[in-house]
Amino acid sequence: MGMKLGIIGYGGMGYWHGEYAPRAGVEVVAAYDVDPKRLEMAKDNGIEAYDNLDEFLKHDGMNFVVIATPNDVHKELTIKSMHAGMHVMVEKPATMSVTDWDDMVAESEKTGQILTVHQNRRWDKDYNVMRKVVEEGKIGEVLSIESRVFGTGGAFFGWRSFPEYGGGMILDWGVHLFDQLLGMYPDIKVTNVYAKLMTVLDQKVDDYFKVTLTLENGPLLHVEVGTYAFYKLPRWYVIGNEGTLQIDDFDCEKGGYMKPRYTDTPVAEVVVMTSAGPTRMMAPRPPETKEDFPLPEVETDWTELYQNLVGVMEGKEDLIVKPHQVRRVLELIEVIFQSAEEDRSIEVRI
Ligand code: NAD
Repeated sequence: MGMKLGIIGYGGMGYWHGEYAPRAGVEVVAAYDVDPKRLEMAKDNGIEAYDNLDEFLKHDGMNFVVIATPNDVHKELTIKSMHAGMHVMVEKPATMSVTDWDDMVAESEKTGQILTVHQNRRWDKDYNVMRKVVEEGKIGEVLSIESRVFGTGGAFFGWRSFPEYGGGMILDWGVHLFDQLLGMYPDIKVTNVYAKLMTVLDQKVDDYFKVTLTLENGPLLHVEVGTYAFYKLPRWYVIGNEGTLQIDDFDCEKGGYMKPRYTDTPVAEVVVMTSAGPTRMMAPRPPETKEDFPLPEVETDWTELYQNLVGVMEGKEDLIVKPHQVRRVLELIEVIFQSAEEDRSIEVRI
């Protein structure tokens, strides 16, 4: 079956889908947008452009759509598209509340159309390398995972700076980072959520956040995103009871994990004088008592998400990005906003 894709919202990400989907053997046939300039661009890229949604949805032979508009209209466009017989891959965040998501899933069940979400960062190399080291037990039992993304751009642009359109960093990077971490612990409950959402540059939406999640019999998860943080901190920092992992950036070019090496050399037998004062616990470790390991090689391919959707449409595969996983992240995000609003930690079972 030829897979023919229509793009709703041919902005930054819509353009990206237009360039990327063909790599998975998908043909991009049509685009719908409310901005004539974006439609001109789609035409220039050989895509049939529509300024009318109903006409677009009738495009001959189109079997599925990607929705890459601002977040506030994801629900309405998803439901209309499924109603018109399209399978849907909606951009993250799928929508802005659990109730809305439940309505979208109900429409998918009613119409029999597939509904999935473009959680492409499940295929990011840094995430998969971290996950491999953790899941293979290379640093022992994991006690704490820090996931961090810092940039210096500061101000948001366009719809991203308004809460009513679903702006702010929780609904931007946060969605990816929570999806990644919860994906590692599908059967372990989050029991406590504490979130601080701030605006460093006096905006209407969060341009900085720090969230701490407690897992039942699992590690403490810290997620921090800043758009105005001028020194980089590692993308991942993981503490285990047999070692420590650090991955500096998305490309995994710098980083590794370090473990103790058991030798006859005492780590710090006596109190050592350091610039921070006398110490034993914090004394520099003799080099022969520790060992560095390189990060493992992991191959990842973002097109797998499209290939999976094609496989599901052909009845050959199960969805990778499943509705209940999307719901769990949205449930968590609702509690994050509540925790920030009330400035307290909240007990949950998510
Ligand atoms: P954008 O502003 O660049 O593009 C949005 C486009 O939607 C614009 O062309 C706009 O004219 C159009 N639009 C607005 N309202 C519309 C409507 N009612 N009907 C049809 N078109 C409409 O935004 P963007 O950066 O491309 O983000 C779009 C979506 O993609 C958001 O949900 C965002 O969270 C998501 N996104 C995902 C990733 C990822 O890595 N998965 C990355 C960036 C953005």
